Amino acid sequence: MAKVYNFSAGPAVLPHEVLATAQAEMLDWHGSGMCVMEMSHRGKEFMEIIHDAEQDLRALMAIPAGYKVLFLQGGASQQFSMVPLNLAPVDGHIDVLDTGHWSKLAVKEARRYTNVNVVASSADSNYAVVPDVASWQRTPDAAYFHYTSNETIGGLQCPFVPDVGNTPLVCDMSSDFLSREVDVSKFGLIYAGAQKNIGPSGLTVVIVREDLLGHAQAQTPTMLDYRVHADADSMYNTPATYPIYIAGLVFKWLKTQGGIKGMQARNDEKAGLLYHMIDSSNGFYYSHVQAPYRSKMNVVFRLKDEALEDVFLSEAKKNGLMQLKGHRSVGGMRASIYNAMPIEGVKALVHFMEDFARQHG
Ligand code: PMP
Repeated sequence: MAKVYNFSAGPAVLPHEVLATAQAEMLDWHGSGMCVMEMSHRGKEFMEIIHDAEQDLRALMAIPAGYKVLFLQGGASQQFSMVPLNLAPVDGHIDVLDTGHWSKLAVKEARRYTNVNVVASSADSNYAVVPDVASWQRTPDAAYFHYTSNETIGGLQCPFVPDVGNTPLVCDMSSDFLSREVDVSKFGLIYAGAQKNIGPSGLTVVIVREDLLGHAQAQTPTMLDYRVHADADSMYNTPATYPIYIAGLVFKWLKTQGGIKGMQARNDEKAGLLYHMIDSSNGFYYSHVQAPYRSKMNVVFRLKDEALEDVFLSEAKKNGLMQLKGHRSVGGMRASIYNAMPIEGVKALVHFMEDFARQHG
């Protein structure tokens, strides 16, 4: 088997063990004689799969009673409309923290459905920091406060959970979901597209406090009403059955890895190795994000000599280090090191980068 390390931002690397299990179960899931893809979503086999996936996720994140877990579709992008449609009145307003590309898209979409106040933005620093809490201009009675815990493109991660009192806290956790411990009880709603730390694309996980259900704007399409999906246990229509199955395998895998606590320790170590190398390269490589806010999932960096970036990428590829190109909107490099990226992959990247700097420095 060709061995490469895949640093893609998503769809991203999945645990090898999960793929091997999926392969072994492909033609006959647990003696059912069927592939999971072929099963009725209402049959007892799939009901068991989705039930176990939810229970394992609840256990991993210690999701309290009073929260619904929804397995939806439409990507995190669909949440940019679903959240305001369900949680904000047309004539109300919401607060949003701008930390980069994905929060800006959330703002743009929410403006179609309600009034949006951007409490603070770090655009001036090219998103090198999360805006200082003291500078936030919050509004009284905001229907909710929205932030993006990890900006996948900019490589900026919020190192704390905002304290917004009784205002429901909403978080786009797409790219750091399950990567570090979070106290779910601090949130009104968490959403995450699956294709980074959960499983294949096509699935979006939403965790929502039950009191926030049932207040959707009158214009809300049925399929975008959380209440409809919550009442039907994510079975209002046909859910993304195969991605849910794989997500369930990922949750089981996480349990064998010491749960989220174990993952967090490993993620700290992996990110530490990479940033340490960048910082000790005498400026050959650099990260524009200030240290406390550097993402532990998406390590975004540049080469001092930008003319070398294409050479870097092609040499990396020859060494089996794939998908290191930064997002087209920011350029440079991005190494996404989600839960399923083994530490050996990060070490291989560090060695390659050291060698490359020696040769071209
Ligand atoms: N939010 C964040 C933080 C993301 O990283 C992404 C995808 N990269 C999205 C939202 C959009 O997700 P999707 O493509 O699943 O709609």
